[in-house]
Amino acid sequence: MIEFKNVTKKYDNHVVALNDISIKIEPGEFVFLVGASGAGKSTFIKMLLKEIEPTMGEVVVGTKSLRNVTKKDIPYYRRKIGMVFQDYRLIPTLNVYENVAFAMRVIDATPKEIRRRVPMVLALVGLSDRSKSFPNELSGGEQQRVSLARAIANNPTVLIADEPTGNLDPETAKDIMRLIMDINKAGTTVLMATHAKDIVDSSKRRVIALEKGRIVRDEKKGRYEFNA
Ligand code: ADP
Ligand code: ADP
Repeated sequence: MIEFKNVTKKYDNHVVALNDISIKIEPGEFVFLVGASGAGKSTFIKMLLKEIEPTMGEVVVGTKSLRNVTKKDIPYYRRKIGMVFQDYRLIPTLNVYENVAFAMRVIDATPKEIRRRVPMVLALVGLSDRSKSFPNELSGGEQQRVSLARAIANNPTVLIADEPTGNLDPETAKDIMRLIMDINKAGTTVLMATHAKDIVDSSKRRVIALEKGRIVRDEKKGRYEFNA
C-alpha cells in the first residue's frame, strides 16, 4: 500500500510543487498520474523514491513511513521499486543480458539467481533472441522492453513508469502498454505518469490528475481530460 498523508513539498525557491496531497493506492492497483508539465508529477515520484522529503505530511509505503527509512536503508527500500523512464536509461556499453544482470548484481543477487532470472525476464518481454545486442542496436520499443525487464528483474512490489511511451510510435507504445498491464496483472502495483491521452482513455484505469500541486481528480475508470 502507498499512502500520502497531507503531503506538501515546497522547494527552496518557494515553489509549492505538491500542496496537501492525500491519496491511497492499494497493492496491485494500476494508476495513471496525469497533469500538465509543472503539475507536480516528478515531485510525486521523487517523493516515493525518497529522493526528496515532504516539507509537511508523511508518505507510507507498505507498512513503513518513509520518515523511518534512514539514509543507510534507502538502497534497500528502493529495491521494492522498479523504475522505467521515457529515455530508457540503459548502459550503452553493456549488452541486453548484462544490462539486466547488472541491476541484479547491484542488489547482491547470486550468480545462480542471475542465471535463472535474466533469461526469464527477457523471455517475458519477448527479447530472448536479443540478449547479446547492445542498446544502440535496438529500436526504441526494444530498448524500453529491456528497461522493463531490468525494472522487474528484482521482483519489485511497485513499478513506476515515467512517461514510458513518450518516445515511441503509437503501435510500439501499445506493445509496451500491454507488457506493463501484464506486469500489473502478475501483482505488481503500477504508477504511470503520462501525457498519452489515447492510452489513458482506452485503458479505463484509475486516473489521478494533478494541477499546480493539487489533486484535481481521482477517478476509478478515469480519462485523460475531465470532460473529454
Ligand atoms: P517533466 O516535464 O519531464 O516532468 P520537468 O521539466 O518538470 O520534467 O523537470 C525536469 C527536471 O528538472 C526534474 O528533475 C525537476 O525536478 C527539475 N526541475 C524542474 N523545475 C525546476 C526548477 N524550477 N528548478 C530546479 N529544478 C527543476
Ligand atoms: P511535472 O513532473 O508534473 O512536470 P514537477 O514535479 O517537475 O512537475 O514540478 C512541479 C513544480 O515544482 C514546477 O513548478 C517546477 O518548476 C518546480 N520544481 C521541480 N523541481 C524543482 C526543484 N528541484 N527546485 C525548484 N523547483 C522545482
